[in-house]
Amino acid sequence: TNYDKIVYSFDELNLKPEILRGVYAYGYEHPSAIQQRAIQPIIEGRDVLAQAQSGTGKTATFTIAALQNIDEKKKETQALIMAPTRELALQIQKVVLAIGMHLDITVHASIGGKAVSEDIEALKKGAQIVVGTPGRVYDMIERGFFKTDGVKMFIMDEADEMLSSGFKEQIYNVFRFLPKETQVVLLSATMPQDVLEVTSMFMRNPIRILVKKDELTLEGIKQYYVDVDEEQFKFDCLCDLYDSISVTQAVIFCNTRRKVEALTQKLIENNFTVSAIHADLSQQERDTIMTEFRTGSSRILISTDLLARGIDVQQVSLVINYDLPTNKENYIHRIGRGGRFGRKGVAINLLTKDDIPAMREIERFYSTQIVELPANISDLFD
Ligand code: ADP
Ligand code: MG
Repeated sequence: TNYDKIVYSFDELNLKPEILRGVYAYGYEHPSAIQQRAIQPIIEGRDVLAQAQSGTGKTATFTIAALQNIDEKKKETQALIMAPTRELALQIQKVVLAIGMHLDITVHASIGGKAVSEDIEALKKGAQIVVGTPGRVYDMIERGFFKTDGVKMFIMDEADEMLSSGFKEQIYNVFRFLPKETQVVLLSATMPQDVLEVTSMFMRNPIRILVKKDELTLEGIKQYYVDVDEEQFKFDCLCDLYDSISVTQAVIFCNTRRKVEALTQKLIENNFTVSAIHADLSQQERDTIMTEFRTGSSRILISTDLLARGIDVQQVSLVINYDLPTNKENYIHRIGRGGRFGRKGVAINLLTKDDIPAMREIERFYSTQIVELPANISDLFD
């Protein structure tokens, strides 16, 4: 279904005054393109599939609509928001709390790695909005602690990831417990065809807002590659880059946890200041590392695809793919950690000769250009 009603200002959305105040206090003046198109139909209760480029404000899109539709007087869970990682779920919870600060609403994060007792407590009290990761949410539902009778909205961020990878089963399981009439809202920057087909199974006459794949890469993000020939030369290349990259905040992606660990160790041994995150760390360690990175006290973070999607740190202007990601979608998500909301960003891919064809394929697929990194990179961030 096409939906062409566009709302050009937050004032026109007829929001609860507390939400409008929350939005402006959060520093938003005008709705972004996706917010102009998608907030209104979500408020109207329509199923919505919203695709929009990285960093264009999908979080506030569903947050504003969810807050608007919550009945503050009912102390039961009315909106369930799901995300693929704990870090993203926590980030979303913060946005909901911030924009909803003038409302009397409880927002609970139900995520793995945290005490189950906390979950049970918050759910018993009837947290009105739950933001969670699939495993824990399903666990809470199945054990009867999470009562789903009052859930009016089911929102899935990074929906294509949630409906393809190992989460698929758990998502279906959660979905089975929701009331038949629950509204479904799916969001992502990427929406591959096979996932698109799956979505029709549980959406009713959805409004689909889609982006063509040649319009997915952001103009503000310059993409480069360095042909290091052999894997063993990536490290020296990264060391050479360090001086120019440490002027900003950067995320360096590797494809495995072991590689994240090994690279981090090696950099530290060589007196570089870096930190690392991946899913083998305890949640407490993960939280500390994210806090340090968000506050800017650490500047270079090495990660697996744990941080590929959704994470919003505005100061990140550089993404390095130490390894090229294994799927095309995550390429877009990874480089989108920089260049948030129209800011400028730089992405550098370190490639062995075997990676060159895959890079060319990414270029073709997204009709974009990845050019060789110039020798003099002092003006990379101009
Ligand atoms: P997406 O989920 O689409 O990748 P996010 O929701 O993480 O993007 O938003 C990216 C950044 O843009 C965040 O820092 C967010 O606060 C900011 N942002 C979102 N909407 C607006 C707006 N209307 N005006 C200004 N900044 C915004
Ligand atoms: Mg997002």
